[in-house]
Amino acid sequence: MDPAGALPPMLFNELVEQAPLAIAITDHNGRILYVNPAFSRTTGYAASEVLGGNPSLLSYKVTPRSVYDALWQSIAAGQPWQGVLVNRRKDGSRYLCELSITPIQDEGGARYYLGIHRDVTELHELNERLQNQKRLIESIIDMAPVAVALLDENERVLLDNQEYKKLMGSFGKQEPATAILTSLRAELGEPAWLQLQQKGEFVDQTLRFDRAGGLGPRWLAISGSWFLQSEPSAESFFAAAPKRYLLLVLTDITALKRQQQTQWLQALRTMLA
Ligand code: FAD
Repeated sequence: MDPAGALPPMLFNELVEQAPLAIAITDHNGRILYVNPAFSRTTGYAASEVLGGNPSLLSYKVTPRSVYDALWQSIAAGQPWQGVLVNRRKDGSRYLCELSITPIQDEGGARYYLGIHRDVTELHELNERLQNQKRLIESIIDMAPVAVALLDENERVLLDNQEYKKLMGSFGKQEPATAILTSLRAELGEPAWLQLQQKGEFVDQTLRFDRAGGLGPRWLAISGSWFLQSEPSAESFFAAAPKRYLLLVLTDITALKRQQQTQWLQALRTMLA
């Protein structure tokens, strides 16, 4: 037995009336037969102002015609359609409308269209702002004159810059960040490394790497800072389990070290003379 069949029809009526999404039902020509209160709240039009009319009264003509064509092609063929349109409210203000339309046929063969939409302007603006910020941060990091890499908890590189990429040739097949952290841990010893992790940062740790092809050693000054970031996933909504990331900044100090070595040799020669 269909359990929903036992429910009184007024429940479904109430569901549509109380739904927080704008709902419009039209006939096969797109003539509006019903709108719910959320439709009026979203569009600014009272039911009496739109009944008998076409939802095109919401159309703001920056939406390409091809979008409306695709919409009608789909629903006229009995297929549901989903997409985003720019709508205009009664007061002239515009909003982004995320719309889904489902064709429904009754027992007598008459076709209706059930349109459900919500205002996604804020969501879109937030997303755009986030993308712009991300692009800005990426280009600032990319332009930095030092090598920068962002690592996750498993020391996988999530983000790097041009200077970091230049280091890749010097480390053969190994990821530079992995080679550097392995050497740093070996040099400092595990207890000192754990202490740095607890402190949350380390500054200008110097490491020497031998290069193949008679290029001489490369010296790097390495700074790092760990930070926590909460996860955006649904499962961490109530039980936030922040993840730890490491921002690694590597400065090539080979030229400085060579200069220091030359000065030291000169001083030694002078002393011996
Ligand atoms: P239209 O004259 O509607 O023409 C657009 C295209 O659709 C043309 O290719 C035309 O030939 C075709 N078309 C129009 N009517 C039919 C039909 N009955 N059968 C086959 N093809 C047809 N539009 C919005 O802008 N915002 C909304 O929120 C919105 N909600 C809608 C909800 C429902 C349930 C339905 C069915 C439609 C909705 N529409 C909405 C689409 C709306 O009906 C208009 O098609 C659209 O606004 C463009 O209007 P127009 O006057 O510029 O063009």
